Amino acid sequence: MLQIPLYFDNLATTPVDPRVLEVMLPYFTEHFGNAASTTHAFGWKAREAVERARTQVAALLGARLPREIVFTSGATEADNLAIKGVAAFYRNKGNHIITCATEHKAVLDCCKRLEVQGCEVTYLPVDEHGLVDLVALEAAITQRTVLISLMAANNEIGTVQPLERIGALAKERGVLWHCDGAQAVGKMALDVEALGIDLLSVSGHKLYGPKGIGVLYVRSRQPRVRLEALLEGGGHERGLRSGTLNVPGIVGLGEACELYRVERQGEQERLARLRQRLYEGIVARLDGVWQNGHPQRHLPGCLHLSFAQVDGTALILALQDIALSSGSACTSGDDKLSHVLQAIGMDDERAAASLRFGLGRFHTEEEVDYVANRVVSEVERLRQVRGEALVEAVEQSSVNPVDVETHL
Ligand SMILES: *Cc1c(COP(=O)(O)O)cnc(C)c1O
Repeated sequence: MLQIPLYFDNLATTPVDPRVLEVMLPYFTEHFGNAASTTHAFGWKAREAVERARTQVAALLGARLPREIVFTSGATEADNLAIKGVAAFYRNKGNHIITCATEHKAVLDCCKRLEVQGCEVTYLPVDEHGLVDLVALEAAITQRTVLISLMAANNEIGTVQPLERIGALAKERGVLWHCDGAQAVGKMALDVEALGIDLLSVSGHKLYGPKGIGVLYVRSRQPRVRLEALLEGGGHERGLRSGTLNVPGIVGLGEACELYRVERQGEQERLARLRQRLYEGIVARLDGVWQNGHPQRHLPGCLHLSFAQVDGTALILALQDIALSSGSACTSGDDKLSHVLQAIGMDDERAAASLRFGLGRFHTEEEVDYVANRVVSEVERLRQVRGEALVEAVEQSSVNPVDVETHL
């Protein structure tokens, strides 16, 4: 029996893996110590757990040293710390930042804030698949450029950026690269040394860890990255992020990283198979379906589709038995069209008639087949309703069918 509603929104958040929860639980109760307490065993126990988790995260990211891992409350805070922290520390060197139109709001809103404070920001365009324009990137770098902030994988369409080339260019021109890895870490291989990433944001709840915990990786050598902290008080995390450490969250994030490091290969292959099954299950029986994002360079679990001749809102309402994101629900609660779909040049109607399927660790083939069947039957039904309404409207008036069509 399938448990309805089915969760197919793993790019928005993932459930905590039960194995992660299990290692977290003792740190709420018996091992509740403050990791900053140095005078007793409660503190030592918590500290030990935090340092173990730091090592686990460093191992997954390919970081040279565990101390390059700074725990934060999530990727939003990590993005803020990286971008505002670099802008503040290097303000005498320059005031120019380069980012991209399809970045997460956490990055874009930081850049907007810095613009108000006198920074200059270049927002690079992307092509129709969401890939950043590398020629424009190279051309945008000036003597005053202190940071490039470009994400690893997009949270809406799943496009994976040309990371090797961004890293090489940043190194060649001596500019720091901050990479928002919230979607990539725990979904694909990502190595900060191999790619030349200087700052990397990670989110616990996107990789089967808990919410409210994340990481900013901060390179310590070649080059040593310096930051101004956002939070003062206590000097935790080498002064970069004051505040009592969220020990259970940190323990959970460490375990989630460890699990993914060990299981990555198999998980990636499984997700790719499930995604293909879902895609084929839909396009084999429906015409007028477009796949959005990059056809090859995409996250293994992300499938983003648009449906011709369907009202997107009606479709999402008809599919209440499946938890999905639509092209218009990009930022919680508002129904503005997604800035990402606009940036790849998608028209409003097609953007509104889009669905993002986020496949995850716990999905089965049976669930995927159910979703494919439901999507096919609802799209067919809505198209039929729309067709009938069109015929009726034409019969009842002398309206031009083309005009009716645009109003349905
Ligand atoms: C989810 C997400 C964030 C925000 O992460 P939180 O940990 O929820 O703050 C930032 N960037 C990207 C690309 C994301 O997918």
